[in-house]
Amino acid sequence: MTDQATQERPAGAETLGFQTEVKQLLHLMIHSLYSNKEIFLRELISNASDAADKLRFEAVSDSSLLEDDADLEIRVEFDQNAGTLSITDTGIGMSREDVIDQLGTIAKSGTGEFLSKLSGDDRKDAALIGQFGVGFYSSFIVADRVELFTRRAGLSAAEGVHWESAGEGEFSVETIEKPERGTTVVLHLREDEKEFADGFRLRNLIRRYSDHIGFPVKMLEEPTPPAPVAEGEEEPEEKAPEFESVNSARALWTRARTDVSDDEYKEFYKHLSHDFQDPMLWSHNRVEGKREYTSLLYLPAKAPFDMWNREAPKGLKLYVQKVFIMDDADQFLPLYLRFVRGVVDSGDLSLNVSRELLQQDAHVEAIRSALTKRVLDMLGKLAKDEEKYQAFWNEFGNVLKEGPAEDQANHERLSPLFRFASTHTNESEQNVSRVDYVARMQEAQDKIYFISADSFNAAKSSPHLEVFRKKDIEVLLLSDPIDEWVTNHLQEFDGKTFVDVGRGELDLGDIGEEDKESADELNEKNKDLLERLTKELEGDIKEVRATNRLTDSPACLVIDEFDMGKQMRRMMEASGQAMPESKPIFEINPEHTLVKRLEAEQDEQRFGDLTRVLFDQASLAEGRQPQDPGVFVQRLNRLLIDLSS
Ligand code: ADP
Repeated sequence: MTDQATQERPAGAETLGFQTEVKQLLHLMIHSLYSNKEIFLRELISNASDAADKLRFEAVSDSSLLEDDADLEIRVEFDQNAGTLSITDTGIGMSREDVIDQLGTIAKSGTGEFLSKLSGDDRKDAALIGQFGVGFYSSFIVADRVELFTRRAGLSAAEGVHWESAGEGEFSVETIEKPERGTTVVLHLREDEKEFADGFRLRNLIRRYSDHIGFPVKMLEEPTPPAPVAEGEEEPEEKAPEFESVNSARALWTRARTDVSDDEYKEFYKHLSHDFQDPMLWSHNRVEGKREYTSLLYLPAKAPFDMWNREAPKGLKLYVQKVFIMDDADQFLPLYLRFVRGVVDSGDLSLNVSRELLQQDAHVEAIRSALTKRVLDMLGKLAKDEEKYQAFWNEFGNVLKEGPAEDQANHERLSPLFRFASTHTNESEQNVSRVDYVARMQEAQDKIYFISADSFNAAKSSPHLEVFRKKDIEVLLLSDPIDEWVTNHLQEFDGKTFVDVGRGELDLGDIGEEDKESADELNEKNKDLLERLTKELEGDIKEVRATNRLTDSPACLVIDEFDMGKQMRRMMEASGQAMPESKPIFEINPEHTLVKRLEAEQDEQRFGDLTRVLFDQASLAEGRQPQDPGVFVQRLNRLLIDLSS
């Protein structure tokens, strides 16, 4: 609560300022969700249903909370003349503190950062709001004033609360008398939104968006036109209309798959996630036998704004025999599948299971392992449609990359799901799978080659690739800091090892066009030059070698076979770990004109300059800084002057 200007009279009426983030969010919502405005009803009914779920759960251990009224339901009413619409629930309700906290601030961490990314262009920002999730504030899309009357179950009738706001900068709260527990939200519809105060329209919206809610959503019966009265008969007494259920009130996942339409699955996803975009894919399963549970898992189309935030809620909504137990039950899926949304309803857990108990429960462990496989199988199926899979990969690939390290047991399922950029596709897009790679391998090739660099461009133009281009061998271009780690864990693809082309000695002898000379022969032939270079670079390198991996470049740097990779080293250093020193191997291309020049150079100063320049250039080609940039420039200039004189 950053900037709430609390006025006097804290127990009576008070006017408070919204947290800055709320103001920004309200503005964004009102201006960007204009073409989807009816979603406010789904959001408010979702909240009402969550409140009923919470009460049912709390009543398991304290039945007095039901206060002699065990009916959990949601009522939607309207008044055409007044231009109002109200949504009432008999759920858990809120205390005064709850109201101030929940409806005056946004507790989601990372909100500020999310909002700072907004462009101010309403159309573009509309797409972002879906990642954030809408919720209660969507009321202000259609209402210019919103009132909320609520009382927390278990508190006395004198502890009701009235909240009101015009959605601009402030809201007011006041303690009121409220005999019934639960919440009523009253929307004072904007002048041009009065169409929502209409029975036919509302019924349609409820059936469309909220049919799957596990509680009845009721409306007053539509008045039937009076039957004609025969002469002499008495006018029948007018009967007050009663509430009737508008939805089917069966929690969607409890229904048979064949009874649920795609649209219903999509609506249910939106209810669960507060996302307003359709999900990419879902899977609904009932398991019977030794263990009984139902799961309904969704893959969102877009990553949520806080996917990389450690504290962001993740996990499934947990029910035990249709009774809601908790949100964000993160025991049911591994961390690398944290983008999955959904419900799990277990028949085997106890109603008073806690988060702590979930951690050690054998049922939970078994369900987690089954759900993990299920999600990976969903992805495997999705991957049959390359275009759709690419959309998934672009959103969530980086999270999935945590999988090989976290989940040894599922390597077989995971490895076909990875996509990489490669020398054999033009784009920087990561769209090459192991199947594509293996299919393009050359006859004598038994390894999967990759190069890792700090950026796609650095990888693509690395001198290490020269010989691979010459022999037309495909190389995966890894530029994401986590990639090196992935390849470490994914060592085997179909029995084929991953080989870093920037590391160790390279032996491509049998692949493609035969090499004229082996590495040993080259080293022997250039022995004198190698010795001179070793002396010059002493202290900065591990070794100097002659190589045939280069065609266009004079030299390159190679990491020794068992030294840590560049990206890994960077990651460790960034996390504050002290790393042992590791020196590169300097490889030269004896065929290159500059190297031949070097060999012929008798002037020791010039030999030194040229050697150092080649060494620093090799660093540059790796995307690194020369050891001493100023000295590098001086040496280079000395050589250029020599050249031009
Ligand atoms: P979300 O539902 O995503 O948390 P909302 O902005 O819709 O976000 O609601 C904020 C909070 O206000 C909810 O988490 C809940 O604690 C509370 N709330 C909203 N509507 C109700 C309601 N009908 N009954 C009880 N609490 C509610």
